[in-house]
Amino acid sequence: MTDLKFSTLALSPDLLASIAALAYESMTPIQAQALPPILEHKDLIAQAKTGSGKTAAFGIGILAKVEASNPHTQALVLCPTRELADQVTKEIKALARFIPNLKILALCGGKPLRRQVASLEHGAHIIVGTPGRILDHLQRRTLHIPSVQTLVLDEADRMLDMGFSEAIASIVQGLPRTRQTLLFSATFPEAIQSISQSIQNQPVQIKVESTHAASQIEQIFYKVSEENRLSTLKMLLKQKSSVSTLVFCTTKEQCDRIAEELKNSALSALAIHGGLDQRERDEVLVRFSNKSCSILVATDVASRGLDIKNLETVINYQVPRDPEVYIHRIGRTGRAGNTGQALSLYTAAEKAKVSAIEAYQKSGVVFGKVEDLYCPDEERIAAPSAKHPPMQTLKIAGGKRDKLCKGDILGALTGGTRQIAASQVGKIDIFEDHSCVAIEHAFSAQALRVLAERPIKGRSFKVKIL
Ligand code: AMP
Repeated sequence: MTDLKFSTLALSPDLLASIAALAYESMTPIQAQALPPILEHKDLIAQAKTGSGKTAAFGIGILAKVEASNPHTQALVLCPTRELADQVTKEIKALARFIPNLKILALCGGKPLRRQVASLEHGAHIIVGTPGRILDHLQRRTLHIPSVQTLVLDEADRMLDMGFSEAIASIVQGLPRTRQTLLFSATFPEAIQSISQSIQNQPVQIKVESTHAASQIEQIFYKVSEENRLSTLKMLLKQKSSVSTLVFCTTKEQCDRIAEELKNSALSALAIHGGLDQRERDEVLVRFSNKSCSILVATDVASRGLDIKNLETVINYQVPRDPEVYIHRIGRTGRAGNTGQALSLYTAAEKAKVSAIEAYQKSGVVFGKVEDLYCPDEERIAAPSAKHPPMQTLKIAGGKRDKLCKGDILGALTGGTRQIAASQVGKIDIFEDHSCVAIEHAFSAQALRVLAERPIKGRSFKVKIL
């Protein structure tokens, strides 16, 4: 059996210490396959889904090569969305924890350009960003990339879907020919093969098994007619949903319409798609991930970069065209040994897509009966979390800019005789100019009073319940 210990690789003690601090004991299959060629400076095209450990695969590859003493940008990672870029930046920073003097910078759209330009003036060894914004900086000559040795395209299929191919081509033109190009993609449509041919040099190809153990994810398909698709979705949500359910739709208009319909049926739902501005997006993600909203209705693109642990249920409002997209979607549940359920609605016209999924997975799926979902006393069995999420979000009008940190907010809520226990406080997110804190539903009004009466760090901030 192959030794999967990171110590078998030629990595510096600092990098191995950072990996150990993250408690990564052994390499995941993608890391074991990708790291040896990456460390040999070969190009790579890897088919791997989110959750496989792909970020650490290229992150470690980059960090093994970057020289802190060289002030130029040496690695560039392109991601389709800001959320993914933020996640990748966070992971590379964690992997660089014990490597001194290394600067890793995220450059994404939706953030002020001026501040990014100021950061770039101080130099950055590794840049992670979205193609549009990176190109913008190149055109303004605020970013210089002739010293880049490693280019990573993360979730390349999504970047192409989002229309970034021209931006990517322009960026690549400014890179040295001798660079290494690493391409990661969940699916391998023709467009990916062709971009690989135009920007890579004899890439090593790897593919990590992307199907899931049948026992880990329960997959049930319900046959519906177009007319009863929405009512069946509502029944599924009321009977089978969990604290965090992700519903996949095809278009942003559909996301908005369905989220609205669910809200009208007293279900706790929000929509996320490319049409939201950054602030709206952040707010939706915070509320879903801190469990103060139970149902997120998303497009494939918008769901990328969602780093939500323990997603118990994924629902496909329609069956996706490509079986790999289906596999990718349902892979958001049943992670890290947890079980999950994937429920899909299909019409007679979509039956061929279901058969394609069965063929791809090399196993049959379970077909449920919509009739079994009907319940005369619907209110009695409605899953409480679909209507009443466990938490509520308080938004505080103070953030990083005011030097607030999580401890300040937790302290203000739970200190003294304030009757809020730390166990009633959930996730705390600090943004530039505001913060969000999740509080158990029953205590949110009390928490609001506490924060209104008692200043945080000596200052009074406006607080409201979202
Ligand atoms: P990714 O596929 O990059 O989104 O990674 C999925 C998750 O796996 C992330 O939360 C990583 O922190 C984690 N991870 C990556 N590599 C390892 C490893 N070798 N051992 C344990 N966890 C890992």
